[in-house]
Amino acid sequence: MKRAEIKQLLAKGKANTQVLVKAWVKTKRGSKNVSFIALNDGSTLNNIQVVVDNANFEEKLLEKINSGACLAVSGKLVESQGSGQQFEIHAEEVELLGTAHPDDYPIQPKKHSLEFLRENAHLRFRTNTFGAISRIRHAMIYAIHKYFNDRGFCNIHTPIITGSDAEGAGETFKVTNFDLLNVPQDEEGEVDYKQDFFGKETNLTVSGQLEAETAAMALGKVYTFGPTFRAENSNTTRHLAEFWMIEPEVAFADLDENMDLGEDMLKYLIGYALENCADDLDFLEKRLLDSEKNKKKEERSPMALIEKLKFVLENDFERITYSEAIDILRNSKPNKKKKFNYLIESWGADLQSEHERYLVEKHFKKPVILYDYPKDIKAFYMRQNDDDKTVRAMDILFPGIGEIVGGSQREERLDKLKQRMQEMNVPQEELWWYMDLRKFGTAPHSGFGLGFERLMLFVTGMGNIRDVIPFPRTPKSAEF
Ligand code: ATP
Ligand code: MN
Repeated sequence: MKRAEIKQLLAKGKANTQVLVKAWVKTKRGSKNVSFIALNDGSTLNNIQVVVDNANFEEKLLEKINSGACLAVSGKLVESQGSGQQFEIHAEEVELLGTAHPDDYPIQPKKHSLEFLRENAHLRFRTNTFGAISRIRHAMIYAIHKYFNDRGFCNIHTPIITGSDAEGAGETFKVTNFDLLNVPQDEEGEVDYKQDFFGKETNLTVSGQLEAETAAMALGKVYTFGPTFRAENSNTTRHLAEFWMIEPEVAFADLDENMDLGEDMLKYLIGYALENCADDLDFLEKRLLDSEKNKKKEERSPMALIEKLKFVLENDFERITYSEAIDILRNSKPNKKKKFNYLIESWGADLQSEHERYLVEKHFKKPVILYDYPKDIKAFYMRQNDDDKTVRAMDILFPGIGEIVGGSQREERLDKLKQRMQEMNVPQEELWWYMDLRKFGTAPHSGFGLGFERLMLFVTGMGNIRDVIPFPRTPKSAEF
């Protein structure tokens, strides 16, 4: 008999037919005469109940059916008498594919802390929470490709090993095949990268943007969706050392069109989740409400998960300049009462996530797009405004998260770009190919980077970025 998936059985099963399922045991309960086994095969959040007449099976077999064990069960699909699911299976044959002894199987049918589950990341997929998150993560990956494909964008694989540090932030992981105990040096005593694998200094990419720009200057509308690596030693709930980033790059688009694209895309993705992940979102919403029960009222989320997602979907994002934001922040209560960790004193200050979240959660109470930032706190490639002070940058800020998107209109004028590279000590020899784009058929263009795990934080309502990626990489942690 062909194996049926539980999702299909629950949705379209036919009563009184023979079925075969293969799945993991969530729970087993029952009496001397009957056992009720909840099985889950990952196809859906929902379990199917298997009813076992104990008299028909060896006690030795029944004893080994514990949480975490894997079974193949065949039997009759019948309409369920109890509440809950529509169908259950009356077992005729039970094969134990794999045992899980309760003395050492870590995932027991009780509440586990997220920290504990992180230490058991190889098994946490089997919990309802991580099953739900994983299915939503998949739906979002699919929706991102669909969004761009439906709009004529071309997906570009940009290199993971690069010779440039796009942001110039210096937070890169080096790539080398030198013997670290015997690194070749040149006459000056510096590391002789000429002898290294690529004949030059290389690192893991921090962004695919610069390469994506080369593609946009021929294909028009492109996007990348790849892993990025940052050796930032910040142990926050929003930073990973390895994360995934979506970076569209659009020829002929100015900053307004860039903001439109960012807002439209985020709304599309949230709408896609609401439409296609209802069961899993429902579960996560209940989980969140439950986990916040013991918190003080002001520490709880102001809206339930699904209400929050709908709210973002239905409201225009507030668009204001950096300068307007500084005025709001300078006059804000937490600034005057010195409640911010970093007080906002003057124009030019870099915004911290506490400021971003104040604007979003307290002042406007909806997502905010800040644009026209001071040039000194932004990258060299952003288009300079005529005021000689600001550049055409834009960040999209979300409740609970702060920055979710960072983007800009790019500087397309060679002289202006060169001047900025000089001022910021960006090596022009290394980026000769980037500058070539401004020499040959230059055109206005714009793009942004959306951190995939930040999006996942928002959509799932989870509080820590380590819980929305299967195997998180953070300082001092690269298990699995
Ligand atoms: P932040 O100020 O939050 O560190 P950033 O200014 O370094 O962000 P960008 O360089 O603009 O961010 O990167 C684009 C997007 O990538 C960000 O808007 C964010 O969504 C995401 N991002 C940046 N750094 C990380 C990280 N360490 N882990 C996960 N996502 C990140
Ligand atoms: Mn950063």
